[in-house]
Amino acid sequence: STIVVLFTRDLRLHDHPALHAAVTGAERVVPLFVLDPAVLGACARNRIAYLVEALAELRAGLRGRGGDLVVREGDTVAETTRIAAETGAAAVHVSGEVGASAAARELDLARALGGPGVRLRVFPGVTVVPPGALTPSGGDHYRVFTPYLRAWESAAWRAALPAPDRVAIPSTVAVGRLPGPSLAGTGTGTLSPDRTRGGEDSARDRVRAWTASALAGYEGVRDDLSGDRTSRLSGHLRFGCVSPLELALVARNLPGGTAFLRRLAWRDFHHQAAHARRWADDAGHRPRDTDRRTDEDGFAAWCSGRTGAPVVDAGMRQLLREGFMHNRARMITANYLTRLLSVPWRRGADHFHSLLVDGDLANNHGNWRWIAGTGDDTRSNRRFNLLRQARRFDPDGSYVRRYVPELRGISGPEVHTPPLPAPGGYPPPLLPEP
Ligand code: FAD
Repeated sequence: STIVVLFTRDLRLHDHPALHAAVTGAERVVPLFVLDPAVLGACARNRIAYLVEALAELRAGLRGRGGDLVVREGDTVAETTRIAAETGAAAVHVSGEVGASAAARELDLARALGGPGVRLRVFPGVTVVPPGALTPSGGDHYRVFTPYLRAWESAAWRAALPAPDRVAIPSTVAVGRLPGPSLAGTGTGTLSPDRTRGGEDSARDRVRAWTASALAGYEGVRDDLSGDRTSRLSGHLRFGCVSPLELALVARNLPGGTAFLRRLAWRDFHHQAAHARRWADDAGHRPRDTDRRTDEDGFAAWCSGRTGAPVVDAGMRQLLREGFMHNRARMITANYLTRLLSVPWRRGADHFHSLLVDGDLANNHGNWRWIAGTGDDTRSNRRFNLLRQARRFDPDGSYVRRYVPELRGISGPEVHTPPLPAPGGYPPPLLPEP
């Protein structure tokens, strides 16, 4: 018998329930990735670049086990159905995703495959605890984080699965060409020079190095902007090059792991909300968001890191340069946009999404809603004091100097309050200090 495994955002061999079930349940397996123009066209160049690297590693890993990665271009549902028919597959396996478009695609796929009698089976693997597995009494998902965390910590987690030793692919199937780096040209946003390299090997190397050296001290330094000592695993998690469950199991047994596990629980929390409410790309529009007039000049200054607020500009320029931003800087820049410039959170979320390697619907929208006060578990009208944030989380100003070269000549915390006119053509503050 033959089973097709449709890879999406689960680009790994370790702890991959859908692949594991196929390899143990069928004689032949067709590992498939579909380059779908409808999906890629809306994807950030930074994420496409990551994807290209991750697919190359996935193919190499499968080849090392006697298999291969089959690559097709076109509509995901049509191509998957065609491959299933061509190979006489009995089933298609996928890892369950969250959000409205993923749910719609799963439904379309189940319908299309159902005609010729091919079964679609959906597996866990994108989160530690599958969305929908934990429910509060009287509801279908948790709206508040703390009770979710308690349920999450005491839930029975499944055991992590080993990578398969061998993958036997049907000899007749044409494997197709891997995309090259030029595919990134089709995406949105700019390509960041210092972005994370994609793939399971890089991700596993990073897990090993970071858990050995920095996990123990994580809680004390996670908000330190210039120290930059968080795991930087978010891009790898976004593409499933590392299994969140495997990571959580490692962290659970190491000193300092509790604070880190809490971050993975936040990730699961946003995923279960996105799943239950079928968040769509246009989710969260509330009248008070859309009715406001947007300060377009202010928004453009924020996007390009030229608001004249050094800590905000450093964050926005880190995003442009690396396709990544430190969590504390994401909070500061998002707060500035929504609370001080009064720009609807959706505009900011879309800009982030066009650049972040880790950009994904659940985490991006979940966090933006939280900051903007439109989410569930949130303190409304919370407005940061910028200077206090800057002095507390970048006390000697190194984070600002790293990303804002115009201000490199100003030493110490004075960099947070540059003189006027500022050196190097750095703009004056768009907004007066509150
Ligand atoms: P670490 O501190 O090492 O945390 C480990 C992992 O836990 C992260 O890789 C991530 O998967 C998860 N995590 C940590 N914090 C959060 C959080 N607040 N919410 C959900 N998961 C979390 N994260 C994304 O992965 N994609 C996004 O699109 C995204 N958009 C954001 C937008 C805003 C406005 C804010 C405030 C935060 C956003 N985050 C997003 C969450 C967080 O900023 C990043 O996950 C984190 O900075 C990634 O760095 P790290 O891997 O070094 O994190």
